Amino acid sequence: MKRSSARLNPRITRRDFLNGSALGFGAALLTRAAPGSAQEMAGVGDPLLGNDWYGYGGVGDFRLSHGNTPEVVNSAHYLRDGGFPAGQEEIDADEQFDLVIVGAGIAGLGAALEFSKRRKPGQSCLILDNHPIFGGEAKENEFDVNGERLIGPQGANGFFIPAAVDDPEEASGDPRYYAELNIPREYRLQEWPADRKPLSFSPDNYEYLVRGLQDHSSVGHFFTTADSTEGQWAVDMWQRELANTPLPDATRKTLLQWYRTGATRQFASDADAMRTLDQLTYKEFLESKLGMGPEAAGYADLFLASAAGLGSDAISAYAAYKSPMPGLMDTPPPDLRRNSFPGGNSGFARHFLKRLIPDSITGGENFEDITLGRVNFGALDRSGQPVRMRLNATAISVTHEGNPATADTVRVVISRNRQLHAVRAKAVVMATGGWINKYVVRDLPAAYREAYQQFQHAPFLVANVALTNWRFLEKLGITAAIWNKSEDDFGYTCNIRNPMQVGDYRPPLDPDRPTILSFYTPFYYPGLPVEAQVRIGRAELLSTPYADYEQEILGQMSKLFGSAGFKPSTDVAGIILNRWGHAYSVPFPGFYGGASGNAPRDVIRRHYGRIAFGHSELDGLQHYGPAADEGRRAFNQLANAI
Ligand SMILES: Cc1cc2nc3c(=O)[nH]c(=O)nc-3n(C[C@H](O)[C@H](O)[C@H](O)COP(=O)(O)OP(=O)(O)OC[C@H]3O[C@@H](n4cnc5c(N)ncnc54)[C@H](O)[C@@H]3O)c2cc1C
Repeated sequence: MKRSSARLNPRITRRDFLNGSALGFGAALLTRAAPGSAQEMAGVGDPLLGNDWYGYGGVGDFRLSHGNTPEVVNSAHYLRDGGFPAGQEEIDADEQFDLVIVGAGIAGLGAALEFSKRRKPGQSCLILDNHPIFGGEAKENEFDVNGERLIGPQGANGFFIPAAVDDPEEASGDPRYYAELNIPREYRLQEWPADRKPLSFSPDNYEYLVRGLQDHSSVGHFFTTADSTEGQWAVDMWQRELANTPLPDATRKTLLQWYRTGATRQFASDADAMRTLDQLTYKEFLESKLGMGPEAAGYADLFLASAAGLGSDAISAYAAYKSPMPGLMDTPPPDLRRNSFPGGNSGFARHFLKRLIPDSITGGENFEDITLGRVNFGALDRSGQPVRMRLNATAISVTHEGNPATADTVRVVISRNRQLHAVRAKAVVMATGGWINKYVVRDLPAAYREAYQQFQHAPFLVANVALTNWRFLEKLGITAAIWNKSEDDFGYTCNIRNPMQVGDYRPPLDPDRPTILSFYTPFYYPGLPVEAQVRIGRAELLSTPYADYEQEILGQMSKLFGSAGFKPSTDVAGIILNRWGHAYSVPFPGFYGGASGNAPRDVIRRHYGRIAFGHSELDGLQHYGPAADEGRRAFNQLANAI
């Protein structure tokens, strides 16, 4: 990546960084050499990450937890590299719970919700998470730009309003939790004044990438050629049938064919579709079954890599069918819209938590208070309450006390505040992914270990840029940008949302006032094997210092928007990086079982002894409703054991 000379206003950067209070993190870690401490870890595996990697975190409750923290990455890699040796695990358990749930993402919260409904009097549950706050990939960033409170998603960000159900207990997935958590079905967005330049906006960070839904946003495609850095904008190119693009005729023809192609296959059942389509990639489907040129798969990468981690050369055609993509599904109905809470899916995580621990979020049991209230950290881990949550707590060992088939308890060793302690549980739900479970669960049977070896996890970077104004976007007539990525580019898409208005939280929709520009940035390398793509991407994500990404982002913005008056020194107030090392489990061909129907996830979905596994990755297309369902299923497999 070429480094740009563009620089953030140094005064703003320094101030914002100090506000982030991540300051001194590395130093704090290095004060003692307790088990699992930085000093001890320094001898093992990867170099330690610190503040120069993590950077500014914004303001508010989530400021210390944006993406994976350096501490989480350091201790996870320490575990992977054989750290926390067996001798250190022989610690007596000093607390007893009926259930321990590892992971406070949506899956863990789903397991806890089911426990809270089914528990017998006196039963207790402890939820552990290695981050400083709950939510997993469904967290939020908060900025204060010139007195304006702005909230944006760190990762999971949007949803469709599901069908209403009379009895949530009879439902599953999105409709179940939507009804059960009393989430409203109507939302307020900002009106775009009729006397301004016509502009339309995605309410989330995906809609502008989805075939058929793209038309709801003012999307600019930025085209460059190999011999020139000057670019050319094509605004609303799909509505104009690509006539305003510099693309050759043959490419236009292919892209339009792809865009307009509805379902070309009918299946007797979902199982039939799964068996048939899970044998080839989406790219193979487009090219060998529909005879399309490579440009179609190339454009499809934009959405697929954002939603599933890698592009169409890696993603199963069945996952594309469920997404749904051209050639496998018809164009969505024109009035279908996405939605996004202020902090994206942290809105769902907040609703789960409020139900589990009523005073965990300040304010009442209503949408506004739950969505915007401050987290009451003191309420999370009080003894005596049925559900407790312990943060900054990494489970480093989970093992049955005895033979898994007959043991009465499971011991969980936790690393927290540079100390190890252990708790005992009658059952454990691992609401965490395979990349870590295979190291943490010490008596994992060989078949599970082999199944987990087949999973591939793609990294992801969400960069939220707080802007003091977005006059440069208005001048271009766009609210979302897509560029034909070259080696010198950062990312390939970004947008501003029409921000949801909730109670007194009324972020503006005015080019002269602040907003958040979000870059959703996957790492994919078409043509390479899946495992190589995720490995190279993760190395890039983990090895790039904050300052380098900051410069790359500002350089990219200057390249895209400089001609429309963008100035980094005055227009950017702060940048938060949310790095997810294992963001998505990639649904490659065979993930769902392929022709044989034997999928690695089927092995993981069986519990053994008193341990069960429930995590969004098992669904193949990670999403909040199925994530909570996986957690619920895992708890129910163990309900009789507690
Ligand atoms: C960039 C991005 C965009 C997305 N967009 C959407 C979207 O628009 N809509 C949608 O519905 N979904 C979206 N998703 C999918 C999202 O992943 C799921 O919806 C869901 O939030 C995942 O929940 P989970 O509990 O399965 O996993 P996670 O959120 O990963 O939660 C697992 C938790 O366990 C913790 N943990 C791991 N190991 C340990 C350990 N040893 N000890 C203690 N804690 C541990 C993890 O750090 C994490 O906090 C997106 C995901 C990403 C990455």
